[in-house]
Amino acid sequence: MNSITVVGSGIIGLTSAIALQEAGMKVKLVAKEKYDLTLSSKVGAVWFPFQIEPREKTDRWAGQTYQRYLKEISAPGISFLPFLNASNSESNDDWVKQLPAGKVRKALSHELPIGMELGYIAEVPLAEPLLYLPFLFEKFITNGGSFSQKSIANLHEMSFLDDWVVNCTGLGAKNLCQDEDLRPMRGQILRCDKMDFPSFADPTKRGALSYIINRNGDSVIGGTDYENDWNENEDPEDTQRILGRLTNFGIKSAPKILEVIVGLRPKRSAVRFEFDHEFPNIFHNYGHGGAGFTVCWGCVEDLPPLFKNKKQ
Ligand SMILES: Cc1cc2nc3c(=O)[nH]c(=O)nc-3n(C[C@H](O)[C@H](O)[C@H](O)COP(=O)(O)OP(=O)(O)OC[C@H]3O[C@@H](n4cnc5c(N)ncnc54)[C@H](O)[C@@H]3O)c2cc1C
Repeated sequence: MNSITVVGSGIIGLTSAIALQEAGMKVKLVAKEKYDLTLSSKVGAVWFPFQIEPREKTDRWAGQTYQRYLKEISAPGISFLPFLNASNSESNDDWVKQLPAGKVRKALSHELPIGMELGYIAEVPLAEPLLYLPFLFEKFITNGGSFSQKSIANLHEMSFLDDWVVNCTGLGAKNLCQDEDLRPMRGQILRCDKMDFPSFADPTKRGALSYIINRNGDSVIGGTDYENDWNENEDPEDTQRILGRLTNFGIKSAPKILEVIVGLRPKRSAVRFEFDHEFPNIFHNYGHGGAGFTVCWGCVEDLPPLFKNKKQ
């Protein structure tokens, strides 16, 4: 059997590697940064298909991912929480159809934070990255995988890594693939003491994605969604804007901020999920926008059949 190397150890690389192992393949992992230094390690991470396309495909992936988290309910970092999602006449609420019966309903008016007209309350998975990513990495190693730290300069070099290579380099693919469609969507978030306010997200205003995710030991408050913004430093004005929006939602006391985090979502007009045209042993799996944790398992379920009957 030909062997496969996965490049990238964020949520997409780790789940790709494990899905291929679970299908009986021998897999190696190569990445510039180990999982604990990736974008994936810094975020919420709650189940919600935000800023990812094409929705016909990614909503299906989100539904499959939900099912996988249900099976992994006892894995480190995995839990389910009630989550209120604001909606308006322009929202695409098709994600609701991906939830099991009884897990989602329209919010009652008294459940909506000030300023929201409509919303859904759903029971959704939470995958706390600092617990879940090490669990996935250990699982990959226990399944017989090996990891090496290495930066890849271009697709030519990548194609020589193995018989088959899966490119899960997130925003790193921009340079590697000279991909003009791939761009950053800057997110600034505040990690705070755990808040006494229900978890919610309001994605209805572009640039002002607002949310609270109550995790087991802290809360994550969002945020921003600025397209084509490469700034990876904290912007104090954004911090003030985020806190100001909390007041508008009716939250009176400001939480104690533990950490300000900035990450760049790998945004694309469509997730790149295809073999390379020039290097046919490379398969691309990047560009999961604001929803890597939401779609990862569904996305990688589609991977093994693509390699099963291939010969180099
Ligand atoms: C503020 C914020 C909040 C978010 N919240 C959520 C949420 O609640 N739920 C959700 O589902 N999603 C959320 N997201 C989106 C999610 O974080 C991303 O979709 C996801 O992390 C992308 O994962 P990835 O594995 O593709 O990329 P990454 O985590 O960036 O991993 C890329 C990997 O590729 C490696 N790499 C890159 N270039 C090279 C190279 N040249 N050579 C070798 N290796 C290379 C890196 O070292 C790394 O290991 C959020 C994003 C942000 C910014």
